[in-house]
Amino acid sequence: MRITAAHITRQRIPLAYPFITALRRVDQAEFILLRLETDNGLVAFGSAPATEAITKETLKSIEQALKRHILPALKGVPFDLDKMTQAVSHSVQGNSSAKACTEMALYSLAAQQKGLPLYRLIGGKETRTLKTAVTVSLNSPETMLKQAEGFFFHGFDTLKIKVGSIDGHDSTRIKTIAAALPEATLLVDANQAWSADETLRIIDRCDDIPIALIEQPVAAADLVGLKQVTEYSPFPILADEAVFTAEDAERVLAHNAADLINIKLMKCGGIGGALDILDVCRRYGKRCMLGSMLEGPVSITAALHLAAANPDMFEHLDLDSPLLYAALPPDLPFTVQGNTYAL
Ligand SMILES: [Mg+2]
Repeated sequence: MRITAAHITRQRIPLAYPFITALRRVDQAEFILLRLETDNGLVAFGSAPATEAITKETLKSIEQALKRHILPALKGVPFDLDKMTQAVSHSVQGNSSAKACTEMALYSLAAQQKGLPLYRLIGGKETRTLKTAVTVSLNSPETMLKQAEGFFFHGFDTLKIKVGSIDGHDSTRIKTIAAALPEATLLVDANQAWSADETLRIIDRCDDIPIALIEQPVAAADLVGLKQVTEYSPFPILADEAVFTAEDAERVLAHNAADLINIKLMKCGGIGGALDILDVCRRYGKRCMLGSMLEGPVSITAALHLAAANPDMFEHLDLDSPLLYAALPPDLPFTVQGNTYAL
């Protein structure tokens, strides 16, 4: 089997409401869609959003990485998943989303070639329903409470509360939502916005609330601060922007600087990179969140297969983009009811 054609297009899906974090505001999910075709008639897709604030990639840079480096590295090579994913990994520095986009299409081709669903190809035994958190965007405490209540009363019981505002009201945001929705599971994501000292103060103010975890409170590069917070916090600390790759996970966990690791295909370059991080976490006896950017359905599907294949490793899923679309695209390879996916 050989890849005979690759098509790259830009796609966008409007959101029901804007997605706001400490790093950015987005009104639509925009992503690159890659379509690979083979000489034996298989077709596979990959996709990647531009999350410049996190991976430094734009739609244009993803297109260029695909056209100039990644796809040429696969040209004319007989299909072999290991060799091809190695070739993708070595084709260019960085560009983790462009690599993830290509790699998920290669995994899909390998699965199709073997007649297996992707989760089976990567070691899973059965599918099960997969529950995701849903994001409450960063806004005034009142607006956030309204959105949180709206989600909760629609059955979305795990809420990812985006904080990290410079207005000094982050603990009010958390406490207001916790007081109104005591049954909700609250994941607090500061997207690197706090200093270590600030984080300790906010933890003190919230120590009567059962926060399920605090995600990346301090800057990605501040390993000392992350460790300080992890040692102090009664709540589990989740490393997100601090961990792109298995090497990052190794460094963070060796320093005891986090309790959990947030794996995202777009950070680690795809399914292979994610499996490598899972290996590191298993070695340290740590579990993970499987997160996502604001993504299209193709990359969310790949993440769902990864989650289905590793049910013991993911404490939380944060794959909520499809729940935020203004309308679900037709012909999805998964179903979603409320906050629960099935493959
Ligand atoms: Mg995060």
